[in-house]
Amino acid sequence: MESLPADGSRLPGWYKVSRKERIARIAERLGLAVEEVAAAVEGGGLSPDDADRMVEDVLGTYGLPFAVAPNFQINGRDVLVPMVIEEPSVVAAAANAARMVRDGGGFRVHTDPPHMVCQVQVFARDREAATARILAAKADLLARAAGVDPVLARLGGGPVDLEVRAIDGGPEGDGFLVVHLVVDVRDAMGANTVNTMGEAIAPVLEGLAGAPTGLRILSNLADRRKVRVEATVPLQSLRMEGFEAAQVRDGIVSASRFAELDPYRAATHNKGILNGTDAVILATGNDWRAVEAGAHAYAALGGRYRPLCTWRRQGDDLAGSLEMPMAVGIVGGATRVHPGARLALRIMEARSAADLASVAASAGMANNLAALKALATEGIQKGHMRLHARSRSLER
Ligand code: NAD
Repeated sequence: MESLPADGSRLPGWYKVSRKERIARIAERLGLAVEEVAAAVEGGGLSPDDADRMVEDVLGTYGLPFAVAPNFQINGRDVLVPMVIEEPSVVAAAANAARMVRDGGGFRVHTDPPHMVCQVQVFARDREAATARILAAKADLLARAAGVDPVLARLGGGPVDLEVRAIDGGPEGDGFLVVHLVVDVRDAMGANTVNTMGEAIAPVLEGLAGAPTGLRILSNLADRRKVRVEATVPLQSLRMEGFEAAQVRDGIVSASRFAELDPYRAATHNKGILNGTDAVILATGNDWRAVEAGAHAYAALGGRYRPLCTWRRQGDDLAGSLEMPMAVGIVGGATRVHPGARLALRIMEARSAADLASVAASAGMANNLAALKALATEGIQKGHMRLHARSRSLER
């Protein structure tokens, strides 16, 4: 058995050691008892009674593979990436691509502040006058919303802005207003937080507009809370059996352009990104439907569905760039309730929602790179299934 280093995400031979050995290594690394790690990942991690408290009408729990991908380096920090996913080859592909990116200095990530938007619909007849009255009361409205969540206020978060948009059309053709309450949700995903604030200011908005309000709920198009990832893959790291490195690079760039020009291809391209992103989101007990909704809405924002990650030649090397909304949290929801989620956050050493967003987006880029490399060379079936077969054949 190979000996794994005590730290660093380069774990040579990680896929060769037994599952029990991997658990022992993770426990050692985190300073936890082996039994504690095993309890969080074996049998789904969640007890039926906890599941019964989490949602309604529960019979039991439903298990999925919980894996850890090595090789990631993100903003100079070595990161082990927990992934929960049912699809073979995704974890191996992520690890493989992360190693290539590592050769070029790792993933470089920038995250926006954690700003989420709550929409409150207002059926104002005189939209101009109502807009003026609402904007004049902005400070009061922000204070009213802030009062709802003293915990968030203590942490330096809370409402930061309020905007009014006019929406034309609708059933009567006379349109309505939508108030956007912008909230800094700190390390939470923030849906419950902003929904509560939206409901708190709705009666005040009704008074100001002299009109009823309609829906009061967050927008999953979290385009103020984007994550951007850049990566460089040195030419020599693209070398593979039967192909020149330059051929691989140019094939990946050509595949990227295909996705940029054709929404049919872009949908599959983005699915490949979400293979990695969703696996991290799921591992940490976050709401992957929210991330999916945000990703696709953002991809279509310009009027045509486009890829969230693109690749270009940069000198001799390959350069990737990804941008997508990422509404995730390390508190709230199931993140602290599910033992597997708590373990996943510890494994990746996420100290903030931004840390988690960086890891999820980097995993997305890694899976995109791996998929494009396979597609541009030997084909996805052969390329990815080989990675999967390699780890299966060594399993004991
Ligand atoms: P939450 O309400 O469970 O937790 C957020 C609260 O935790 C904050 O309001 C704050 O009071 C407190 N908190 C403590 N420490 C904090 C910190 N460091 N940073 C920020 N807040 C801190 O959860 P949430 O994040 O508001 O909502 C997430 C849940 O909402 C998810 O389960 C999601 O599935 C669900 N949801 C989603 C949607 C949607 O996406 N459309 C709609 C409704 C609900």
